[in-house]
Amino acid sequence: MNKPRLLWLNITVFASTTLVALIGVPFYGFFYGFDIWQLLAMLAGIIICEISITAGYHRLWAHKAYQAHWLVRVILAIGGTYAVQNSILHWSSDHRRHHRHVDNDQKDPYSAGRGFWYSHIGWMLRDYQTGQDSNYNNCKDLKKDRIVMWQHNNYMFLVFFINFAIPTLLGLWHGDLIGMLLLAGVLRLVISHHFTFFINSLAHIWGKQPYSDKNTARDNSLLAFLTMGEGYHNYHHCFQRDYRNGIRWYQFDPTKWLISALYGLGLTTNLYRTPVERIEAIRAEMTLKRTAQKLQRLPNADILLLRLQAEYEALLTKINAFAQAKREWIEANRSKGSIMEGYDYEALKKRVEQLKQNFLEQKKNWMMLNARIA
Ligand SMILES: [Zn+2]
Ligand SMILES: [Zn+2]
Repeated sequence: MNKPRLLWLNITVFASTTLVALIGVPFYGFFYGFDIWQLLAMLAGIIICEISITAGYHRLWAHKAYQAHWLVRVILAIGGTYAVQNSILHWSSDHRRHHRHVDNDQKDPYSAGRGFWYSHIGWMLRDYQTGQDSNYNNCKDLKKDRIVMWQHNNYMFLVFFINFAIPTLLGLWHGDLIGMLLLAGVLRLVISHHFTFFINSLAHIWGKQPYSDKNTARDNSLLAFLTMGEGYHNYHHCFQRDYRNGIRWYQFDPTKWLISALYGLGLTTNLYRTPVERIEAIRAEMTLKRTAQKLQRLPNADILLLRLQAEYEALLTKINAFAQAKREWIEANRSKGSIMEGYDYEALKKRVEQLKQNFLEQKKNWMMLNARIA
């Protein structure tokens, strides 16, 4: 079978930046050295590139997880252009197909089923996508966004302009132009490229699957650290519209923190959160599935399975009761003053607390039972 044609522009960009990063940067560093300002400019550039992709390209545009003020969108579009990962429209179209056809070697543009190299970078080196939605029909909403279309229509110019202008200005300010071009220009681009690409490759190979094993996506906290919180990829593939990827307070998700902080400033709105009972239900279902598989080996499997099923159903009942009461409580607070006088807020609050305790207790029992059996 003939292989698709090579994409020489992409190959040239990846090959030249990689060679400079691997040879030019160490040589220059050895003979002339770098200082803290050059390293800081590189680090800041990596953060700007990555977070523009995660908060902008990914969660805002590809998934519509929230809405943002035009100023935020302009900044994210420019930051995303600095990251050199194609236009918002193109990137989002690929990404929506990735979610829709995940692991399908023909339809998922960076299917993990085709191996690490292909899902990491190989898919961009040849024209594997010919005929795949070249009109961006899965992004009709984005075609109406003027900032998205401005970036798309001027992409080549913007990429070259921004990627030369920012490191050059930094270099002129600093005094060592070549050093700055090497660190803030090239090494910054190579590192931010590969960290982001890890989500398509490693985050489908390495990590845990607490929510679903129906696709290859995994949760991996090391990758979350390298990618502004995108490493909780198993969660993300289950709840792609959620503006959060790391939902626990201890999970590293600076993209979520940024979106929340901008919400506090009135610059983002309609942040979508998956209802807690859906998250708990899918997680418990996954645990049930795993424990049931292990149980099959035991002689008293039937009895244990019945017990497990009963505890699982009790957990669902309790989380639903808590979630329902919490919604009522939020609603009552919202309409405080307008509803009947004498409405017993205190009683409702106490009920929510009680139902929360019931749920947490049941969750503990459930986890203990699973740990004991498994
Ligand atoms: Zn994925
Ligand atoms: Zn996604």
